[in-house]
Amino acid sequence: MLSRSIRYFSNSAIRAATQVAPPTLQDVVIIGGGPAGLSLLATLKNSPKTKHLNCTLIEGGSLDKVREFATNPPQEYTNRCVSITPKTIDYMKHKIGSWDFIHEDRIKEYQGIIAYDGQDADSRVEFDVNSIGKDNLAAMCENINIQASLLAKVESLGLEDTTTIKDNTKVVDIINPLTPDLENHDLNEIDEVPGTGKLDWPIIKLSTGESIQTRLLVGCDGYNSPVRKYAQIESRGWQYNTFGVVATVKLQYEDFRSVGWQRFLTTGPLAILPLSEDNATIVWSSTPELSEILVKVNKDIFPRLVTAAMVLEETDLKYIYGLLKENPDDLSAVEEIEWRMSKVPEVVLEERYPAAIVSVLDGSRARFPLKLSHADTYVAPRVALVGDAAHTIHPLAGQGLNMGQSDVIHLVEALEKGIDRGLDLGSTLVLESYVSNAWPANHAMLGICDKMHKLFSTDFYPLVLARGLGMKTVNFLSPVKDMMMKSISL
Ligand SMILES: Cc1cc2nc3c(=O)[nH]c(=O)nc-3n(C[C@H](O)[C@H](O)[C@H](O)COP(=O)(O)OP(=O)(O)OC[C@H]3O[C@@H](n4cnc5c(N)ncnc54)[C@H](O)[C@@H]3O)c2cc1C
Repeated sequence: MLSRSIRYFSNSAIRAATQVAPPTLQDVVIIGGGPAGLSLLATLKNSPKTKHLNCTLIEGGSLDKVREFATNPPQEYTNRCVSITPKTIDYMKHKIGSWDFIHEDRIKEYQGIIAYDGQDADSRVEFDVNSIGKDNLAAMCENINIQASLLAKVESLGLEDTTTIKDNTKVVDIINPLTPDLENHDLNEIDEVPGTGKLDWPIIKLSTGESIQTRLLVGCDGYNSPVRKYAQIESRGWQYNTFGVVATVKLQYEDFRSVGWQRFLTTGPLAILPLSEDNATIVWSSTPELSEILVKVNKDIFPRLVTAAMVLEETDLKYIYGLLKENPDDLSAVEEIEWRMSKVPEVVLEERYPAAIVSVLDGSRARFPLKLSHADTYVAPRVALVGDAAHTIHPLAGQGLNMGQSDVIHLVEALEKGIDRGLDLGSTLVLESYVSNAWPANHAMLGICDKMHKLFSTDFYPLVLARGLGMKTVNFLSPVKDMMMKSISL
């Protein structure tokens, strides 16, 4: 303590000489203005117990498009869409109050999912939530619609004196005053605020030259989380060597079935998920090579290729991929597809497969590397991790954003309890209950999605047979199906 106070006085002297501004003090600093960060800020500001906290959110990119979306959304759908569960929607409606600001005309609720095996179309499971007395399995929504509604909610609360949002501002460094890296940090930055004992509050250095010292630092800063690195929290996992290709497409007609479709190909699952009217979004997880073809292929071929990939045998598909790898504009691929599709009876196409895709929205195709990662813990002294900073999951069950939302629920509960008990919000005593409530369920979900990805990406015959039997059995056993549906829609 003696050496610290000595350093305080000597640092102050240096500061006075060099005129470096002291860090601003905050209760909570959130890094990341993605769905997780905005959700946390909106919840804290809407909760009677936490709204008085001084909060700052830092986002490296611009939030202009998000703001504009709230008042003036584009006519066409944006290409990043997520499936959100009734629990997530319920939280946004009742705890955050951000649903009032969502563009509901751009939300598509759906009642079921039809999943089938790429190696055997008869191996299928058809989930329909009406059988468990629920109205909807989930809803499709654009990421930006969620972000815009959260931001609009925060701005509507008018708590400017305790809320700061800094976009176009990167976190360039985070310093732990207890163990400063003296080689890389000027001692001048590391200081104690007189009489407050804030020596262990992290100091966040921003690209604007400002610095903030905070009681609690929350990393909502995605997969590469600088906050996780600062806290030296180990994250384990692997790359799938697979990319998720997304696109916004138009269907031949509005599908009255209102279900999501998923076909498990050995290259990865292909999902077609409904948006309003005749719009839909696709997520096609595939090999690096195939994903490159999918983003490059001629826009008149792409819709037919996706339709075919939901129906044709994989040997046929591989032949067509080969043509398109040579030349992504090779229109003879369309003839090859049509010829093969013409052998499937019309009635089978109508009853067992999704509506055909007729066009793809310009500029909507993009690919994302897929990986699994899970942090060993979500907290360290004065630090918490939320959302993709804590875990990333294969998108096959559409759970990533929902898991981040569930993190927010548990973290805010922990902070509210801490406030009730008069505890220091950054202490691990307060934060521990967040980890114990959030981590196990996330771990289970990560494991399930990983196993599903591995099970379905093999064409090893005994496994194909076993999973086919499994799917058929599940499809016939209503109680098992109902249980699975309840867990997906939570
Ligand atoms: C193809 C695909 C399909 C998906 N489908 C679904 C689905 O159907 N359902 C679902 O629930 N989830 C889905 N997900 C997952 C979902 O999109 C993510 O889990 C979610 O968007 C993560 O949100 P986040 O806020 O945690 O992180 P991000 O959205 O990654 O936000 C992190 C933010 O931190 C900022 N940041 C990072 N570093 C810094 C820094 N140094 N300084 C300042 N700011 C910084 C970044 O700019 C970024 O805005 C899907 C993902 C993919 C790839």
